Amino acid sequence: MQLNQCSRCGAFFVSENHVCPNCEIKDQKDMAKLKTYLTESDNPISLEEISCNTGISIKNLDRFLATDDFQPLSKKISLTDKGNISISL
Ligand SMILES: [Zn+2]
Repeated sequence: MQLNQCSRCGAFFVSENHVCPNCEIKDQKDMAKLKTYLTESDNPISLEEISCNTGISIKNLDRFLATDDFQPLSKKISLTDKGNISISL
């Protein structure tokens, strides 16, 4: 048996998943919300926008979007403003 650390809450648990059984329920809700959000949006959107509008943290968004489920939808995400953060003094 292998102990994994939950990607959401940091708890240790025995499972093949990235998250513990408690967070699995939250993950499923968030993923459903994200799927609906991405399906309904027409314009490319940034991770920050998605995070603001869905309440899902960027860390969790990254994790969800890396799954096969979200491969087709992840094309809707604009990565152009990544690395485009200008610091004006
Ligand atoms: Zn957890």
